[in-house]
Amino acid sequence: MIEKENIKTNESLKDHTTYKVGGTCKYFITPKDLEELITLIKYLKKNNMKYMILGNGSNTIFSSKEYDGVIINLSNLNSMKIEGDKIDVEAGYQLIKLSMDALNNGLSGLEFAAGIPGNIGGAIFMNAGAYKSDMSNLVETVTFLDENLELKTLPKEELDFSYRKSLFQKNNYIIISTVLKLTPGDKDEIKALMDKRKQRRIDSQPLEYPSAGSVFRNPSEDIFAGKLIEDLGLKGYTIGGAQISEKHANFIINIGNATGEDIKALIDLVKSKVKEEYNIDLHVEQRFINFED
Ligand SMILES: Cc1cc2nc3c(=O)[nH]c(=O)nc-3n(C[C@H](O)[C@H](O)[C@H](O)COP(=O)(O)OP(=O)(O)OC[C@H]3O[C@@H](n4cnc5c(N)ncnc54)[C@H](O)[C@@H]3O)c2cc1C
Repeated sequence: MIEKENIKTNESLKDHTTYKVGGTCKYFITPKDLEELITLIKYLKKNNMKYMILGNGSNTIFSSKEYDGVIINLSNLNSMKIEGDKIDVEAGYQLIKLSMDALNNGLSGLEFAAGIPGNIGGAIFMNAGAYKSDMSNLVETVTFLDENLELKTLPKEELDFSYRKSLFQKNNYIIISTVLKLTPGDKDEIKALMDKRKQRRIDSQPLEYPSAGSVFRNPSEDIFAGKLIEDLGLKGYTIGGAQISEKHANFIINIGNATGEDIKALIDLVKSKVKEEYNIDLHVEQRFINFED
């Protein structure tokens, strides 16, 4: 049913996460289109096999254990169409690439996304954002497969978007595509804003190391997780190959052969120290997979 070249076995998840961590997965499958995706999921459900959709793995922490199931990659669902100020784009399309397409078409709204290395599916799932904007500001509709594998389309108002949250975190729906509405703008101004923000990221983030961006959500608009961690003197604190970045305390970096378990131990340590010192419960933005016993 699925073409052989689209199925890999015992694939290392290190190659599919920006942290460069994870054990192997039994199968890593890249369906060639929507029809093949539906056929695959039907088969997996019927055979009671575990599966998950992985985007670019830029917000995901896998444990070192084997993932005893199927990791599904949607990179072949990558069509993109711009009509006027609307963009109809599939889940496997790259967010950074889309922000460049918007720029080239004189469309403003995706400037915040030019440094976020996810794909559209992951960005909708996470309601990715920065600089006081996020995907939900642009989304008109999202089309997804529900639990009965029916293709449904819902408007933004019904997608439960809030800070780094969406409806998709509460169910097993599979995001297939979205329609975004942007605003016509001046190309030079859009580019200037993107360049400025790119430089800010280069100056403030440890982009030379594997990471998954900010680890913790900011507790509030004026309390920054990074500042709390820095004030505790935890910059540079290391467990195994995972380190709290010296450059940005809300980043954990892989300084060499870190495991998901190293990262998790560091996250647990930060959470308990912040709770002890400030009585604040930090919430992790990133997704832990395959840690349960
Ligand atoms: C250097 C760096 C900077 C970053 N900066 C930011 C930032 O400024 N703002 C920000 O918000 N994030 C940032 N991130 C984090 C990350 O890029 C975003 O959260 C991004 O949206 C994740 O997309 P992804 O495709 O990599 O998702 P993945 O990590 O692959 O997946 C995340 C979750 O989404 C689910 N998922 C993915 N695709 C689908 C789908 N089609 N259907 C259903 N579920 C799906 C997965 O199952 C998983 O649970 C940064 C990361 C890095 C490495």
